[in-house]
Amino acid sequence: MSKFWSPIVHQLTPYVPGEQPKINDLIKLNTNENPYGPSPKALTAIEIETGNSLRLYSDPTSERLVRSIAQYYQLKPKQVFVGNGSDEVLAHTFQALFQHGKPLLFPDITYSFYPVYCKLYNITAETVRLNKNLEIDVNDYQRPNSGIIFPNPNAPTGHGIGVDAIEALLKKNTDSAVVIDEAYIDFGGTSAVTLIDRYPNLLVIQTLSKSRSLAGLRVGFALGNEALIAGLTRVKDSFNSYPLSSIAISGACAAITDKAHFEYTRKRIISARALLTTQLNALGFNIIPSQANFLFVTHPEHDAADLASQLRVKNIIVRYFNKPRIDQYLRITIGTDDECKTLVSALKNIVNG
Ligand SMILES: *Cc1c(COP(=O)(O)O)cnc(C)c1O
Repeated sequence: MSKFWSPIVHQLTPYVPGEQPKINDLIKLNTNENPYGPSPKALTAIEIETGNSLRLYSDPTSERLVRSIAQYYQLKPKQVFVGNGSDEVLAHTFQALFQHGKPLLFPDITYSFYPVYCKLYNITAETVRLNKNLEIDVNDYQRPNSGIIFPNPNAPTGHGIGVDAIEALLKKNTDSAVVIDEAYIDFGGTSAVTLIDRYPNLLVIQTLSKSRSLAGLRVGFALGNEALIAGLTRVKDSFNSYPLSSIAISGACAAITDKAHFEYTRKRIISARALLTTQLNALGFNIIPSQANFLFVTHPEHDAADLASQLRVKNIIVRYFNKPRIDQYLRITIGTDDECKTLVSALKNIVNG
């Protein structure tokens, strides 16, 4: 604490990310990183870019990347906004779209950065309870709001809803922005991108951190109606002219266009998820059906926090949230086949005593 802080700084509750341990021989299944690494074409592009003139500022509009993403999703460049990780895109979204006096709606169990942005930008929030199966039910979102946001698939549950449900929500909520955070969409969900041309209040946010295994490059983007994108751009241009480095722009362009690497790695994760689900079920775990690169699991006879610390002793890190309704769950990232195998045998030892 310091008397030099502005009053709002005293009020903040900063987000606490999952541990990034400094030791290497750990099986790290706690922050939903992709174990297969980025496209080799992205790495080459990054290398080439470091040989180019880093003396110069990067392109303030990230035009090459905006065009690559627009082409990939068959949108116009004016329907694409890029930022320094989707966390930054989310921050600008909260500031640009959600400050209208009525509460912003999001699930009671969801990405825990949302309430953090609400405090930072002085946005009132109202949480909407997930149903008893820990699923989002869009019918629960029919109440006065300044906006609606949730991840699809949701985090940390991994449960996804269909585009039809999102369309129903958009139809009943035409007076405020509906933001779908699709950080995990490439692992089996259906993107709402196809609704953009018909719903001017829809914003879809995605990231290269998970499905393209580029968490360290920090690139995220938003897709939506031109007017929504223009609002985000106004906020961005009032905050930082060059949020993406030249290196990030080049690497991200190459990653977006390398469809082969993308398909190969995401399919491996999807099949590893199916196998891990079967194996953990056999050990007595209950698992929420996942469309993401992680599983949200609970065991009727074993305390979740205790399981997490026993795994930590065996050099495996998973994510535990000490929060109401989910304090008996673990969120486990899908690793390589070998990592999953090690995890299953560790859990087998723990569960069978
Ligand atoms: C990982 C994650 C993000 C942030 O991704 P970055 O692009 O790395 O900032 C956003 N939303 C959800 C739901 C996530 O899980």
